[in-house]
Amino acid sequence: MYMTAQRKLLFRYFSEHPDVSVTARQLCDVLNNGDQVKIGLSSIYRNLAALTKAGFILQTISQDSKEARYRYVSPETCGHRLHLTCLRCGKTFHMTQKLSDRLLTDILRVEDFAVDENQTTVYGLCRDCREQRN
Ligand SMILES: [Zn+2]
Ligand SMILES: [Zn+2]
Repeated sequence: MYMTAQRKLLFRYFSEHPDVSVTARQLCDVLNNGDQVKIGLSSIYRNLAALTKAGFILQTISQDSKEARYRYVSPETCGHRLHLTCLRCGKTFHMTQKLSDRLLTDILRVEDFAVDENQTTVYGLCRDCREQRN
């Protein structure tokens, strides 16, 4: 994939923030946090689509927003393992290989179902969000 300057900007944000999932609007706010607009919302959408297609980021959902969120996928460490994403704050946890393997093996054995771990995000609530709720 050809990395334009805008695409690089997005890619760098995601690789420096591997534990968040963000909406296009949130990215627009963060990336243009100066006096000069570096990247507009429509090119953010366009580049998010290209990065998703190329497998550098993955689309996730959230509880309180109808907008899609996106999270980083590390080419070196994210393959062949599951990820957990908080429905409320979007925090993403990159599950250890060991735990992921164990769950995938159990699901295959018990349910006779081979999970596509690269496409799968497990949704729930992180500890901070559970504590806030009480
Ligand atoms: Zn990961
Ligand atoms: Zn959370």
